[in-house]
Amino acid sequence: MKKKLLGKTPTELKDIAVSCGLPAFTGKQIAQWLYVKRVRSIEEMTNLSKTGRARLAEEYEVGVTAPIDVQTSIDGTRKYLFPVTCTHDGALGAIESVTPGKLETAAIEAVMIPDDDRKTLCVSSQSGCKMGCHFCMTGRQGFHGHLSAADIISQFLAVDETFELTNTVFMGMGEPLDNWENVRRAIEILTADWGFGWSPKRVTLSTIGVIPNLRRYLDESRCHLAVSLHDPFPDERESIMPVEKGYHIRDVIDLIRQYDFTGQRRVSFEYTMFSGFNDTKRHADAIVQLLKGLECRVNLIRFHKIPDFPYSTTSTAMMEAFRDRLTRSGITATIRASRGEDIFAACGLLAGAHKQ
Ligand code: SF4
Repeated sequence: MKKKLLGKTPTELKDIAVSCGLPAFTGKQIAQWLYVKRVRSIEEMTNLSKTGRARLAEEYEVGVTAPIDVQTSIDGTRKYLFPVTCTHDGALGAIESVTPGKLETAAIEAVMIPDDDRKTLCVSSQSGCKMGCHFCMTGRQGFHGHLSAADIISQFLAVDETFELTNTVFMGMGEPLDNWENVRRAIEILTADWGFGWSPKRVTLSTIGVIPNLRRYLDESRCHLAVSLHDPFPDERESIMPVEKGYHIRDVIDLIRQYDFTGQRRVSFEYTMFSGFNDTKRHADAIVQLLKGLECRVNLIRFHKIPDFPYSTTSTAMMEAFRDRLTRSGITATIRASRGEDIFAACGLLAGAHKQ
């Protein structure tokens, strides 16, 4: 199997270039071909010598993985399905496997969401997920492996809209802070001048609150943060989100309070609404107490029913009343429009399933 150039920094690319007999300065040129011009093959890197390209191609490939399926929703949302191979190819190589010595194929999904003049790509950071949130189809399928930085960046390059993308959210399959080193590298590529050159304001990472790596994310990046709250009461939250056992939402919020969200950087809280479970006045008032004084937004999300989960979504009228109660208490709250429901691309529905 050839090694991937994608996911590497200019310094690493320089070392690769030199090892293949190319001049050191070509490291920067290769980075430009990968992340700015976004070529799919080494052959297209035409300012590298022909022999240099041939030598490079003996061991390396660009590493963009083409989708095996694309579905388009009636609202324009597009869901891309990518194959991934689980191997033991090293931390920043191909996907790491949880089954030692065994090669497995799995699938991941990325969702492109158009909205006025924006095109946001919702990307996956893992194949499957370890966190086991009861209301999530990804959590149901268990964990297959971490995506490498190359696997993550490939999602941006393989979609038809690659040059039109304006924003990204790490909100697809997986818990990004459970794969922090690879996600950190992907964010570096997105925001570096030598990479995509995006402002950190265009990137949002969504987490259920894995505290040690949340601290790293807040220290090491300037990108936005979204936290999956879903219930303000620890016992109730724990009953649908096992993570609460190890990392309490109160501690997550205490940590967030140590950072500045009054300027360019924003924090939001995702709140999926389950009828009769987390949508009462008591819950709204507890959210107000929990988030008091924090500059933030609460996004209320309609739940998409999945098998073997006892709750269905809260009605629109109840959601509006919940939103208004939060707003009256000084918490900015919005009901988030559901996108791509007809192609199972909406929140919590990503399962890497192939359309038959
Ligand atoms: Fe994992 Fe997120 Fe699903 Fe929870 S909601 S199981 S963290 S993908």
